[in-house]
Amino acid sequence: MDFKDLGLSEESVKIVTRFYKKPTDVQARTIPLLLEGKNVFVLSKTGSGKTAAFLLPLGEKNRKGNDDEGRREQKGESTFKALILTPTRELAKQIAREAKRIIPSKKVVTLYGGIPLERDTERLKSWDIIVATPGRMLDHYRRGNVGKVDTLIIDEADKMLDMGFIDDVKAIVKEAQPKQIGLFSATLHPELKRVFPTTFEEVALEEDNFNIKHKYVHIERRKKLSLLKKFLREGKKTIVFMNTQRGVEWLSGKLRQMGIRHVAIHGKMKQRKREWLMDKFRYNEVKVIISTDLLARGIDVQDVDLVINYDEAMDPKTHKHRIGRTARLEGKEGKAITFKEVEELPKPKKKWMVA
Ligand code: ADP
Ligand code: MG
Repeated sequence: MDFKDLGLSEESVKIVTRFYKKPTDVQARTIPLLLEGKNVFVLSKTGSGKTAAFLLPLGEKNRKGNDDEGRREQKGESTFKALILTPTRELAKQIAREAKRIIPSKKVVTLYGGIPLERDTERLKSWDIIVATPGRMLDHYRRGNVGKVDTLIIDEADKMLDMGFIDDVKAIVKEAQPKQIGLFSATLHPELKRVFPTTFEEVALEEDNFNIKHKYVHIERRKKLSLLKKFLREGKKTIVFMNTQRGVEWLSGKLRQMGIRHVAIHGKMKQRKREWLMDKFRYNEVKVIISTDLLARGIDVQDVDLVINYDEAMDPKTHKHRIGRTARLEGKEGKAITFKEVEELPKPKKKWMVA
């Protein structure tokens, strides 16, 4: 299967093949459906290329919105508008960056909290695609800054339809009145389709990424830090996950004392700082990043060798997404280790045991 067999325009194919030789499975299956205007429900493992699967169809020039097309054309605006919702600012930025590469003819605006609302207003005067976090998006809808869209993509859809996001997402759907909806994740329960009063075409591919070599290390709480130190000394590109912001701060302090170079991020930090630290990790200036689940979903950093769950994830879905930050794309391997806390062991024979 080639990109040219999926119903994309010649121009789109020319551009995307500068970056990618062949479509991944999820791209081959999903792109034709989205181009036909179908609603899609797409389950496919971490790192399988879901982003381009929804972006490429949105990039088609000749796609048309229906009812208010004429009005928009008169105003000199594009006839096709799309909204992409994501759970974090980091992911919104990443998707926008990918859009600029593979569908450069589309005007993409990224909206998220942590920067003054007014700064968005100018950019909202002309756009084809908005990539946004739900809170900020809803703010703009409430202010009447944004109108209807043709296609709504919800990335990390299970997360977005979880407590904490669902009310905002529902309110946005009401305002945006999309004619087409795409739900994407590596963990999606079919029940989630029921949130929307419409039917979906299902693309259900492999859920597990078997290129990730994961192991549990059963360990007493007080020994975790020195074991972590051992792993970090190996000099691999590593993400360390903690369950709380306080945990991130604590561990960062400890590593600093031990002289281990790293960056640490969580959701309470200023947006600019978050991005600056994230880039240091992304571009290999620093090999180790400590984070909350802020980085669990969707984040695509090249060549992460190792994911360490210093705190075990609160639920299996989060676990799957966390370890999915490594072994991105077919053929790439990655390692993940989860520290599983055990009661103080009476007579430890070894320092730690592998299950
Ligand atoms: P997912 O959303 O499924 O977790 P991403 O969309 O983040 O995965 O893509 C994972 C990585 O694969 C990214 O680095 C992306 O640039 C790359 N990628 C996407 N599509 C292709 C392709 N057809 N061929 C090669 N690499 C690709
Ligand atoms: Mg993704």
